[in-house]
Amino acid sequence: MGAVTASIMFHFVSPSYAFEDGITLILLLAATCFVIGLHLMNAPPTANHGNRLSAVGMAVAVAATLALIAHDGTITTTGWLMLAVGGVLGSGIGLYLARSVEMTAMPQLVSLFNAVGGGAAALVAIADFVRLAGIAGAPTIAARISVTSVLDVVIGAVTLSGSIVAAGKLQGFIPSNPIVIPGGRFINLVLALALCAGTGYILSGANSDITLIGIAIAALVMGVIMVMPIGGADMPVVISLLNAFTGTAVAMAGFVINSLGLIIAGALVGASGSILTKLMADAMNRSILNIVAGGFGTGDTASVIGAGATGQVRSVGADDVAIQLAYAQKVIIVPGYGLAAAHAQHSVKELADLLEKRGVEVSYAIHPVAGRMPGHMNVLLAEAEVPYEELKTMEEINPEFPRADVALVIGANDVTNPAARRPGNAVSGMPILDVDKAKSIIVIKRSMGYGYAGIDNELYTDPKTGMFFADAQAGLRAIIAAVKTLVGVD
Ligand code: NDP
Repeated sequence: MGAVTASIMFHFVSPSYAFEDGITLILLLAATCFVIGLHLMNAPPTANHGNRLSAVGMAVAVAATLALIAHDGTITTTGWLMLAVGGVLGSGIGLYLARSVEMTAMPQLVSLFNAVGGGAAALVAIADFVRLAGIAGAPTIAARISVTSVLDVVIGAVTLSGSIVAAGKLQGFIPSNPIVIPGGRFINLVLALALCAGTGYILSGANSDITLIGIAIAALVMGVIMVMPIGGADMPVVISLLNAFTGTAVAMAGFVINSLGLIIAGALVGASGSILTKLMADAMNRSILNIVAGGFGTGDTASVIGAGATGQVRSVGADDVAIQLAYAQKVIIVPGYGLAAAHAQHSVKELADLLEKRGVEVSYAIHPVAGRMPGHMNVLLAEAEVPYEELKTMEEINPEFPRADVALVIGANDVTNPAARRPGNAVSGMPILDVDKAKSIIVIKRSMGYGYAGIDNELYTDPKTGMFFADAQAGLRAIIAAVKTLVGVD
């Protein structure tokens, strides 16, 4: 131990090492903030602290990098100016978006951030390679740089174009249903072969920046072809996969320019994104390979639309719903995207409080992909201070549905669709909330409109189901008023 301390001390008193090693230690401190921050984000009560600690870590990493650049002394005034303009513009846009973007639009924003991260990482590799290749009489670029440059460019460019398509699908600019590109798999195979050939050429020692740019273009096309055919219901897995890609590309960029900070931050995003992707894929009973290869979400939706359209729909009003809820013993609330879109989380809590005061047992069924981002419903309901113990995971709540007098579905659609139990449609195989097993079902939504997967929901034509056609917020207010009138509460 003493020997190690002595050698570290020696290392630090040596002037040539002292500064860089100090920076390395500061970057390790930043990395520690990221790791502890991520850990704190595991539980809702500590998540805010985790977010703040990670932000502090990022500020420390940026400050350390700027100090390193200043110490290096090779940066010009124009370079500083560009850094300042980029920093102010980037922080300004980030701050504005984070404050102004609706909670329901967060997944699109995350997708755009993924695109920016992947694109930036690819540009770092291209710029560095072009610089090295352009040095007159330069020797062959080292294999270490070539390999990481090519990987960085491929992963970064696939992430850039794939994330833009994903954001477009989430925002509705691009239809969320699977768009199968004729011959897409063949084109991707040809592009993959071209990528291999280009990579081989660069690794053979050719300082060919044109080849690297060609690789980037091929990877951009691959990203589009990869994400276009993915169906709506599978988007959660794709978004977290692209997030993992961003981290990996950033880590590669760190190897290219020898930046410890980028390597650590990228590796953390890559690893946590990969774990999330696996968890999401498992939750949806999908294989990541099948989703990426376009095997899911491309089922025959027409047959399902036909099946759903044949049944009778029973429409109910606020008074009917109030009677059922007020005299129930057990109510399970099933929140979905529509609850978030209507900002109705506080109203649902108010209704639950009202029912609980009457002795009704209330719990919330949380599907892992309800809403538009992982954990969406948990975050939404936590904001309304719904007790955490009332939020039940799919595994916990499904056995309870047969005992529920009423399942109250608010703006949820795909995550309740019994069609998932049959093959051949966009949600086939996805585990769902067993809402149809409840004794009575009430669905609050505005119309017979589809969910994100773009197919009919046969739950709505189940004889046990009453459809309360309303905006979730307005519908809940009407139900609360009706319950109060019914039970004589002001
Ligand atoms: P869905 O997208 O299946 O359905 C939402 C329903 O809410 C719609 O049918 C809509 O019907 C209704 N709705 C919309 N606005 C309102 C409103 N103001 N008031 C009342 N109802 C409203 O939502 P789910 O949560 O059930 O499922 C999530 C879907 O999104 C899944 O397919 C999932 O795979 C996908 N997805 C999830 C992501 C995640 O990470 N969680 C990310 C990307 C996609 P109507 O128009 O008739 O009101």
